Amino acid sequence: MPILELENLSKTYGGTTALKGLTLQVEPGSVYGLLGPNGSGKTTTLGIALGVLRASSGTVRWFGQEPTAANRRRIGALLETPNFFPYLSARQNLLLAADVKQADTRSVDQALDAVGLGTRQHDAFRGFSLGMKQRLALASTLLGSPEVLVLDEPTNGLDPQGIAEVRSLVQRLAAEGKTIILASHLLDEIEKVCTHVAVLQRGELRAAGPVSNILATADRVLLRPAPD
Ligand code: ATP
Repeated sequence: MPILELENLSKTYGGTTALKGLTLQVEPGSVYGLLGPNGSGKTTTLGIALGVLRASSGTVRWFGQEPTAANRRRIGALLETPNFFPYLSARQNLLLAADVKQADTRSVDQALDAVGLGTRQHDAFRGFSLGMKQRLALASTLLGSPEVLVLDEPTNGLDPQGIAEVRSLVQRLAAEGKTIILASHLLDEIEKVCTHVAVLQRGELRAAGPVSNILATADRVLLRPAPD
């Protein structure tokens, strides 16, 4: 059974059409990339899938069911950078996030270890590198041990070292069995970390399938911004 099924999703914001009839399926164990230039509809797709945006039409199914509070708890999401407190430690920040999510302390310890911050957990957030800050953000998505992670442009704004850290963390989490859905406008990122990809252009699906098939054959012009 697919982890996520989007069927015929459309979305308009006022006069702007952001998505046009998007259908895709994410299978368990995949690292599924949504690839497209800025404005192609990636964030809109993830927002609708997570229930933070309402589709104009179409359906979303998680784990073969209509979205419910119970299956929402099986999904960890990073759509925007969380507001961590600069003078609190990594651990204190995660304990606060865990409180909001009703996750337990054990889950905090597991998340810190999973992102490689166990030994830095008592250090103040403000002293962290960009990559460490983003790894802490990823740790917050792991609270409650979700089966699926949904990440919107997780390496945006990072320096090269941070990008490398976050990409290898995504690969490690996938190897540990998480299904990961990740939006990116970077072809090399998708090639490096994803098993499957959907290529979006102006809110339309242009191609979808295993990365090796799609990126080998896709016209790379697709990945440029569409002409007006
Ligand atoms: P980015 O990487 O820049 O976030 P994206 O691929 O995630 O791009 P979306 O953010 O989903 O794309 O935007 C798709 C289209 O919808 C764009 O034309 C965008 O301008 C428009 N859009 C997104 N959010 C809104 C909004 N709240 N109101 C009006 N238009 C919006």
